[in-house]
Amino acid sequence: MDKIVEDRHTDLKNDTFFIPYKKRYIVYSPLRKASFYASSGSVILFKKILGNKDISEEEKKTKTFNIFKQLQQLPVVSFTTPNYLRNSFNYATILLTDKCNFECSYCYSQEARSKSIIKKEDLKTAIDFLLENGKEKKFVRISYLGGGEPTIMWNLLTWAIEYSVKKATKENIKIVNSLTTNGSLLTKSKIDWLKKHNISISLSFDILPEIQNIQRKIISQTNCDFIKEMTKKLLVEKLNKFIN
Ligand code: SF4
Repeated sequence: MDKIVEDRHTDLKNDTFFIPYKKRYIVYSPLRKASFYASSGSVILFKKILGNKDISEEEKKTKTFNIFKQLQQLPVVSFTTPNYLRNSFNYATILLTDKCNFECSYCYSQEARSKSIIKKEDLKTAIDFLLENGKEKKFVRISYLGGGEPTIMWNLLTWAIEYSVKKATKENIKIVNSLTTNGSLLTKSKIDWLKKHNISISLSFDILPEIQNIQRKIISQTNCDFIKEMTKKLLVEKLNKFIN
């Protein structure tokens, strides 16, 4: 079987996620199949321990330190590709970042919004894995969407698209890249780039201005009229697009 997760991912430090939830945190360690609810004080101590900072004797007596010790001893699940899943992953949805310049009331990531950004090396691993799996079907589809607004990470987005297309072409695999965006950061040059690379665009738009302006609070903007203008621009530019 192919080992698809390198050891650096299995370190407790890289396998611990802190998800804000109702003024506390869910601490989640997926590869150790563990999760627990923690106060912000415990999370601060936990991060200190994971960061190899000096821990006082008092801190070593806490419940948090005890949990850390228990987590350290848990076995890491074997993360390999089972035979029945081989060649079946040829479609992926990739969340480049949790950051967004909107604060939509219905956003599923609103409650636990962080400033996380996917690491380029992890993005490359995902694309490579997908293309490896797409060899048999000779087809791969990648969608970039939120959680956050993908175009905030424009350089990373364009790198990923260019890298995947180049590699897919070399492997003789057809690849379709698509992007779901709130459209607010698309300039003329970015639209031209998307058009040149034949990217399908899904533009999130609540249609009715009064609904849109209530539901989609935009950081640093007063209303959503510009999305209407952006929709028109994309229509004029004849991009392969959907509005949702
Ligand atoms: S634009 Fe999308 S990612 Fe951003 S807050 Fe709204 S729904 Fe969430």
